[in-house]
Amino acid sequence: MEAEIPKVYSPEAIEPRWARYWIDRALYRPSDDVSRGRFCLLIPPPNITGVLHMGHMLEHTEIDVLMRWHRMRSENVLWLPGTDHASIATQMIVERELGREALPDLEPGHAANSTWQREGQRIRREIGREKFVERCWKWKEENGDTIRRQMERLGASVDWTRARFTMDPAYSRAVLEVFVRLHEEGLIYRGKYIVNWCPRCGTAVSDLEVVHEERPSHLWHIRYPFEDGAGHITVATTRPETMLGDTAVAVNPSDERYREAVGRRVVLPLLGRVIPVIADDFVDPKFGTGAVKVTPAHDPNDYEIAQSHNLPRVKVIDEQARMTAEAGPYKGLDRHEARNAVVHDLREKGLLAKTEDYVLSVGTCQRCKTVVEPLLSTQWFMKMKLLAQPAIRVVEEGLVKIVPENYKKIYLDWMYNIRDWCVSRQLWWGHRIPAWYCDACGEVVVARETPASCPRCGPAPAGLRAEEDVLDTWFSSALWPFATLGWPDQTPDLGRYYPNDLMIMGFDILFFWGARMIMMGMKFMNDVPFRELYIHALVRDAERQKMSKTKGNVIDPLDVTETYGTDAVRFALGISAAPGTDIAFSIDKIEANRAFANKIWNAGRFILMNLQKLPENLRGQLAAALQPLPGLGFAPAGAGPPHLASSARLGQALVDRWIFSRLLAVTREMSEALGSYRFHEAAYTIYHFFWHEFCDWYLEWVKPEIAQAGDRRPEVVGSRPAGSVPTSDVGLPSSDSFAAWLNLTRVFQAALHLLHPFMPFITEELWHQLPHPEPALSRAKGRESSISLAPFGLVSDRVADPVSQRQFETIQELIVAARNAKAEMGLQKQEPAAQVGSEDLRLLELFREHQQSILRLAGLEALNFTRERLAPNVGSLRRVNAAVDLRIFHEEQVDVEAERSRLERDRDKLEQQMAQVRKQLDNEEFRRRAPQEVVRATEHRYAELAERHRKVVEELERLGTRRA
Ligand SMILES: [Zn+2]
Ligand SMILES: [Zn+2]
Repeated sequence: MEAEIPKVYSPEAIEPRWARYWIDRALYRPSDDVSRGRFCLLIPPPNITGVLHMGHMLEHTEIDVLMRWHRMRSENVLWLPGTDHASIATQMIVERELGREALPDLEPGHAANSTWQREGQRIRREIGREKFVERCWKWKEENGDTIRRQMERLGASVDWTRARFTMDPAYSRAVLEVFVRLHEEGLIYRGKYIVNWCPRCGTAVSDLEVVHEERPSHLWHIRYPFEDGAGHITVATTRPETMLGDTAVAVNPSDERYREAVGRRVVLPLLGRVIPVIADDFVDPKFGTGAVKVTPAHDPNDYEIAQSHNLPRVKVIDEQARMTAEAGPYKGLDRHEARNAVVHDLREKGLLAKTEDYVLSVGTCQRCKTVVEPLLSTQWFMKMKLLAQPAIRVVEEGLVKIVPENYKKIYLDWMYNIRDWCVSRQLWWGHRIPAWYCDACGEVVVARETPASCPRCGPAPAGLRAEEDVLDTWFSSALWPFATLGWPDQTPDLGRYYPNDLMIMGFDILFFWGARMIMMGMKFMNDVPFRELYIHALVRDAERQKMSKTKGNVIDPLDVTETYGTDAVRFALGISAAPGTDIAFSIDKIEANRAFANKIWNAGRFILMNLQKLPENLRGQLAAALQPLPGLGFAPAGAGPPHLASSARLGQALVDRWIFSRLLAVTREMSEALGSYRFHEAAYTIYHFFWHEFCDWYLEWVKPEIAQAGDRRPEVVGSRPAGSVPTSDVGLPSSDSFAAWLNLTRVFQAALHLLHPFMPFITEELWHQLPHPEPALSRAKGRESSISLAPFGLVSDRVADPVSQRQFETIQELIVAARNAKAEMGLQKQEPAAQVGSEDLRLLELFREHQQSILRLAGLEALNFTRERLAPNVGSLRRVNAAVDLRIFHEEQVDVEAERSRLERDRDKLEQQMAQVRKQLDNEEFRRRAPQEVVRATEHRYAELAERHRKVVEELERLGTRRA
């Protein structure tokens, strides 16, 4: 604490140092002490291709705030970090890199990227799987920890010693185990089914990876002539090119218009194939003409219809989005060319009945934006209905609580309508599906290890062919809550940290990830993966627009933390983070909170500089008094840390009783707010307390006393000039000034603790400068000291003191009233005398006791006291509250006009209030129904208002007379 405290707060000088300190000492590794409560959260693993953006920063800030908060309450906290291998994203980046190396001369840009991608895909096939995957690992080693380094710098209090990667050998073993077990139970199967196919990425993608966009298009009405030549049936379609794969026309069985048509046959235009007209409930009679074409190979609903009617499936579009041989004359055309050709030919033949405008929802690939093609393909699927049942139950029963609650309904709706999940991907980077094919007999083997022979035909002559596909990345992520803890082995971590307490994620991955973790957790652990799931908001710009590169409104977290400091950015996010509402974020907000960080720094510097002036022995006593009591160690949450619990005995001055009582309230409010994810309320509560109560009032109030202690030797420190109230509590220190110092240091230290979850760096820095005993406790636990590990429970209930709080607030009201009056009278720079009038003797006594502080803080020369309400008089009469009047003596400078308008405002306001109360009193219903004492109180209130009104009017009259 002898160190010089820099005058100017510069986060760049302190943040990297503490970030390093926390990691080097592995401070956030939970202890093995199982007697302490625990709190556990697993990070949503960022992709290895990821770079930190504002969404991560919000997510990590919210998580870190909660982790630090729980740690302060002496819980054993685990925040487990890690990264995801991001199958498709990583593969695309590596392909592009390969392409770029082969064609280095292209001008970088969108066109070059496309060319590099195509070239890279070609090179990938050329060099083969093994070399390509090696290349991906190399990329991962070199670039895959960008986000980790960024998290380290931003001070995320994770346990780096437990960092996991979804393709670690141990993790991969869990993936393999899950796949094999689900296959054994028939929950994973291989089948031909409609998948969403991205022709550009060359892989199947799941429903969730398809982004739907509204696009203007058409609805084409096409005539299908009956086979017997008697008329036709008109179908409406949004995708005319797929008609080449039609195998039926369907109508709703209840549709009277088509009663005669069902069972007859029509000729498929352009190709001449004969197909039946069938009836199926699935058809919506209100869509188009009520008759629809059935294309089982290119539409999931048609596929279902085909299943139940036993229709053939004709694939007319291939994996490159070109027309197949089944498309007859259209073979080889791209799907868009084919559409134009088909429409053109239908029109020529007079079979196009009508073309209407129609807004179509088009599915595009989340990764590359290409329009996905639903097509029939052989893939691996997971049966979801059975797996979904327990995951529905636990959310309905609240065993997993989803917050905000509106997401619960969205989750349940999705789960009730869940479809089988296509888990195979035609990619190379990822978990390879553990399946082998015997080409001799067609057997498919799924096993934990490479099988030596075919179970049906023995040692296969050509050997077994391994599956080429890998698993959807979300397959492995779904196991995150238990695979990271060592499953399938029964490790101590698994026993201790499963289920996790909480999961925090964005809405965009609720189904990709949240729902699947719940399903897999129930399936393999027979328990929920986490007890609460909090969905955080999105960070948008000041106009609530989505941040995007093209709009140029992106705030880069690394830039702003560099410029303003991590603490300021974190606090700005925290104070904006109300649940369920997107965050309107801006540089202005960060600047405002940078100013708050400056305020903390300056207050800290003032206190620390004065502390350094104290005599050595007084400082020693302070350090000892601030020391947590030996043997208590980390107090259980709620028990109250010793250094605050005993404060009630020391807070003998009114200002101390007030601030400790407020501190208790603030701690409770923050605790409640953080317990229900109201980060904004918690942040605002401590902001207001620190700035507007601790700095503006407490520090100002005690300034003379703490300065005095520094000027004298402790033995001769005088008693407090005013405000000392005798107390019968025991164990008081010998001097009031010592008490003032001790209380100030305690409150400041507690405020740092409360600020710490939001602002870890500045609080760590200032906390270390406070007088500390040898950190014996921390050392005993093999830890270096840190504010984040110092015990801080809730402040003891004993300091709750509503009477003192009310008294201090009355004094504040008096001071504020005096300041306002002076300002309105233009007397800011002067120290006039004033008079206080009240019929409440106890109040007058209170003011008299604290006269010196009141004079100093209000800027008054003298105060005199009158045991009655002040009579209206010219000038400066001010109502402090319902019981107290204040008059500033400075008549000659009174601005009569200003005074008159103030009185007129008072009068109007009183008249309004009187009218309201009158209305209530005149209400028969109220008089009959309300309890007697309520009616009496209302009457009393009316009388009081009338009295005040009389006085104001009197005073106004006096002003008027004078002017005349
Ligand atoms: Zn794609
Ligand atoms: Zn075989």
